[in-house]
Amino acid sequence: MSSQYTIPWFDDFMGVAYRYYDLRMNVIPLLTDRKQSASIWHDTIHWWVDLSIKIRFVETGDKYWFIMGSDSQKPDTNLSFFKVLHKSENYERFKKGHGGEAYLRLGVYVKKSLDGVKKNAMCNCSHEARDHDEGDNDVCLYNSCDCKKFSSFQVNLLKRKKTITDIVFLAEKDVKDDPLTWNCFNINKYSKSEKN
Ligand SMILES: [Zn+2]
Ligand SMILES: [Zn+2]
Repeated sequence: MSSQYTIPWFDDFMGVAYRYYDLRMNVIPLLTDRKQSASIWHDTIHWWVDLSIKIRFVETGDKYWFIMGSDSQKPDTNLSFFKVLHKSENYERFKKGHGGEAYLRLGVYVKKSLDGVKKNAMCNCSHEARDHDEGDNDVCLYNSCDCKKFSSFQVNLLKRKKTITDIVFLAEKDVKDDPLTWNCFNINKYSKSEKN
């Protein structure tokens, strides 16, 4: 069950959401496709050994690296995850409030158009669906707003979850001391910039 081989790094997901749900912070990698999320759970995360799941955060300016990996009972389909993301309020809230434990769930990010939502659904421009004109290409009716088209999203959480108890925030100067993070930075950052 240990990693004597190289586990591939996977970054083909949209981002990570952090939400309170079931009385605990949830860390939710976001995929855009329901089938893809089901197969990632089924082939990879389902086989993770809970106590060995690690998530790491490394801040670089106004961005941060999200890094996640685990020992697996089925090493041949194991993956490690990483994504470079912009810091957000929810990220900061998670950093302060996780208390050493979180649930890992997958989420499917679904874009909503004007005809698929209720009148009080919120657009990304912060005005409600009823304030957008269905007859005129969905433009926002507020004079001060330059939103040309209603757009909104919803995150559908998959039910299955794993518990994460190994959560560490690192400075980049310390990544050498953490094998998972060091492997990630080596492969996805340092070796790439050397080639340029
Ligand atoms: Zn709008
Ligand atoms: Zn608006």
